[in-house]
Amino acid sequence: MGVALLVLAIVIGVPIVVLVVPALRRAILSRPLLKVFRRVLPQMSDTERDALEAGTVWWEGELFRGNPQWGTLAAYPRPVLTAREQAFMDREVEIVCAMVDDWDVTQHRFDLPENVWTYLKQNGFLGMIIPESHGGLGFSAFAHSQVVTKLSTRSSALSVSVMVPNSLGPAELLLHYGTDAQKAHYLPRLARGDDVPAFALTSPWAGSDAAAIPDRGVVCRGMWQGQDVLGMRVSWDKRYITLAPVCTLLGLAFRLYDPDHLLGEIDDIGITCALVPHDHPGVETGRRHFPLNAMFMNGPTHGRDVFMPLDFIIGGPARAGHGWRMLMECLAAGRSISLPSSNTGMCVLTARAVGAYARVRTQFRLPVGKFEGVEEALTRIAGHTYMMDAARVMTAGGLDQGAKPSVVSAIVKYHITERARQVVNDGMDVIGGKGICLGPANFLGRAYQQLPIGITVEGANILTRSLIIFGQGAIRCHPYVLKEMQAARDADHERGLIAFDDAFWSHVRFIFGNAGRAFGRAVTGARLVTVAADVDPGMKRYYQQLSRMSAGFAVAADVAMLVLGGELKRREKLSARLGDVLSQMYLISCTLKRFEDEGRQQADAALVHWSVQDALMRAQTAFEGVLANFPNRLAAGMLRLIALPGGAFAAPPSDALGHDVARQLMTPGGTRDRLTATCFLPDSDRDPVGAIEAAFLAAIACEPLDAKVRAIEKRGEMAGSPLNNVRDATQAAYAAGGLTEDEYAQLKNRDILRDRVIAVDDFPFDYGRAIAEEPLARTANG
Ligand SMILES: Cc1cc2nc3c(=O)[nH]c(=O)nc-3n(C[C@H](O)[C@H](O)[C@H](O)COP(=O)(O)OP(=O)(O)OC[C@H]3O[C@@H](n4cnc5c(N)ncnc54)[C@H](O)[C@@H]3O)c2cc1C
Repeated sequence: MGVALLVLAIVIGVPIVVLVVPALRRAILSRPLLKVFRRVLPQMSDTERDALEAGTVWWEGELFRGNPQWGTLAAYPRPVLTAREQAFMDREVEIVCAMVDDWDVTQHRFDLPENVWTYLKQNGFLGMIIPESHGGLGFSAFAHSQVVTKLSTRSSALSVSVMVPNSLGPAELLLHYGTDAQKAHYLPRLARGDDVPAFALTSPWAGSDAAAIPDRGVVCRGMWQGQDVLGMRVSWDKRYITLAPVCTLLGLAFRLYDPDHLLGEIDDIGITCALVPHDHPGVETGRRHFPLNAMFMNGPTHGRDVFMPLDFIIGGPARAGHGWRMLMECLAAGRSISLPSSNTGMCVLTARAVGAYARVRTQFRLPVGKFEGVEEALTRIAGHTYMMDAARVMTAGGLDQGAKPSVVSAIVKYHITERARQVVNDGMDVIGGKGICLGPANFLGRAYQQLPIGITVEGANILTRSLIIFGQGAIRCHPYVLKEMQAARDADHERGLIAFDDAFWSHVRFIFGNAGRAFGRAVTGARLVTVAADVDPGMKRYYQQLSRMSAGFAVAADVAMLVLGGELKRREKLSARLGDVLSQMYLISCTLKRFEDEGRQQADAALVHWSVQDALMRAQTAFEGVLANFPNRLAAGMLRLIALPGGAFAAPPSDALGHDVARQLMTPGGTRDRLTATCFLPDSDRDPVGAIEAAFLAAIACEPLDAKVRAIEKRGEMAGSPLNNVRDATQAAYAAGGLTEDEYAQLKNRDILRDRVIAVDDFPFDYGRAIAEEPLARTANG
């Protein structure tokens, strides 16, 4: 008995002593573990490390760690415009939207009209992010996002031409890294539009793998403004560069070498960013691409052995070789705003105009939106748009609070552009041939045509989903992984061991904590989770379900890293699915936050329920996909037991809920107005969107009269009754004496507007032949 107790004490006691006494733990456990960790740690280049470590962690960190604190979310302030920003939205933005005719831009001018360019420059549109002290508008991220969103409801050339100078490029880089002299010279010029910027990173050989650019500069001496100075001879071949054909200030990224050691000991200095005036000798700009016939300026730029002084480097010679880190550090702001805003804008327009069209356009004697099949598409349009806009606004608000959320910027870039693809596709289906035939009356065809641009730029979507969202999230959002990696790479091995020991054992406690939490929440259906924030009672269940999902996700993320290690980088399908779970949780958080921030508008509740249920379902499907495809089946089984012991818990939104959502899009009033608050609404009913708006209101006002006409017809009082077409019904009912003069006039007016809405453009058969006969293009194969 005594011996048995002694053995038991040793078996239990020794491991406890080893675990509790730091010196023993480090010597016996942590040191060998660190050796293994160093071996399995994926090789990482400096550029990869810069990309992974850039930016800050924000709300996504809470979701990643398994126990989101809802009070933190509730405490984020609702983004609001200042009086000056609101006045700009109400005046300058409205004016410039009214100045642009997108058909004229895309079909005739192939550019914005000169007066629009002038208006944009003179009114500071190109310098929204530049502080007032440098002559810019100094707008918040939220105001910047609001402007781009509204411009996008009018014309892509308009929004992109404004978006790009305010995104990652010369102004942003100068603000963070420019020398005082560079700031003083360029920022006021950029703010006034005296300089139009472009930023050239992409080359034919390096697209997604942008750090692999072959463009190079060599440090050398040369003549500049009559003096022999230290400079660099730069050669580049870039393509796809937005605004390059018309820019006056070209930002260039290239790799700088110093073979003669004129700057120091290093041969390969690294990626460097410089600003070069477009008329500097040897700079070639001016030719253009046609990105899916979007008419914002975009084109190649070249230079061969172009000598430029070192002062052209952004931040001066001290910043030579820091270009990649500078770009990565600044990426989050632009990527959080540009595409999320422009693509939400397209969807806001779709929601507003297609919802109205579905009520104006009748077939089989009913508005097409009343058919269940069309209703399904309208539901997706409304639900996704609500969620996208919520994510856009909350993310911009985060930037204004000082966050530089790199993982969130990838989430919103990917998910908003993908949802925009779905929304605009649905919109096209609902409006049928009206969307197919291009012309001045087509309000959606160009958005449809140009959607893939957003998918490809600022990190192509497949790469963003497969490699970035979870890949970067796992390292940045996890409380211990980055610490472990840094410890493992520490050149001072003893210091590294202490840091690793601390991080690793905290990590172990973290995993067990999350596993217990995930299991507890799964078996109780998360009903015991307290939501420590004042939230709408009707939405509380979603917070609990998110808490459950977050805990399950945290365990799965750790198990995936533990089991697959560096291999996870190549297992893109798994990484993508884990990223999907994180992303859906972020989108749901934004949606719930929007509902609170907007004062719990119960009329909008159906949109929240639909979009949250849809996203929960997507998250669950992605999670199931991880479990079904996890290479280690034992680990997959354990994960299932912990996180999904009772099987699926989320279900797709019901048809009845979808019906309520779609109805909101076809009903004038609060919900529709809030959903499409950023849509530019032209005054004139001669404008295609203005006409839909007018026809929509007229159609609704006439619905009682339509019922009256139908009753007259039913009673057989119309000449030629039963009519087999609707076009002549008004006339027939009037002729039969069933309508007053006023009623007849009201119906006729509705018919005129409706005819205008359903009309499509036609052209002479040889329209455009002159353009086709003039071979201006230099083809890709020479
Ligand atoms: C209209 C337009 C405007 C642009 N504006 C600018 C600009 O102003 N300045 C600038 O420097 N650049 C600009 N770009 C370039 C843009 O950033 C690149 O097009 C983008 O990075 C993708 O590169 P790529 O087109 O060469 O595609 P590729 O790199 O050839 O990629 C092809 C496909 O492979 C996928 N892929 C690649 N690697 C991986 C991976 N590891 N895992 C999974 N999938 C992967 C990508 O997602 C993509 O789907 C612009 C591009 C366009 C089309």
